[in-house]
Amino acid sequence: MNCIFCKIIEGSIPSAMVYQDDKLVAFNDINPAAPVHVLIVPREHIASAAAVTDAHAGLMGHIWATIPKIAAKLGIQDNFRVITNSGGEAGQTVFHLHFHLQSP
Ligand code: 5GP
Ligand code: ZN
Repeated sequence: MNCIFCKIIEGSIPSAMVYQDDKLVAFNDINPAAPVHVLIVPREHIASAAAVTDAHAGLMGHIWATIPKIAAKLGIQDNFRVITNSGGEAGQTVFHLHFHLQSP
């Protein structure tokens, strides 16, 4: 599959990783839109938020339980935003589910 985030996850494309565990990775966005801007990406290839099903409920819970830890590691735990774009017209450009974690 020609997916840039799968390649980052497998290590064939370099990235600035800020957090990794068995279910997700987080790395700096190559084109940051805020002073802190990381992408939180499940290791499983899921095309977008629209492709999330009940089978992903545990993974989604893990992502949301990990976001405060990543925010704390980056020093933005008191003020941050989380965004996911689903579908090209909504601004999605990489079709592997990811959450933008940004400082104000
Ligand atoms: P989307 O537009 O799909 O919501 O977000 C995709 C994000 O991935 C963009 O903010 C873009 O800057 C980032 N991005 C695209 N290619 C790469 C890459 O090769 N490395 C990194 N670190 N970020 C990327
Ligand atoms: Zn992928």
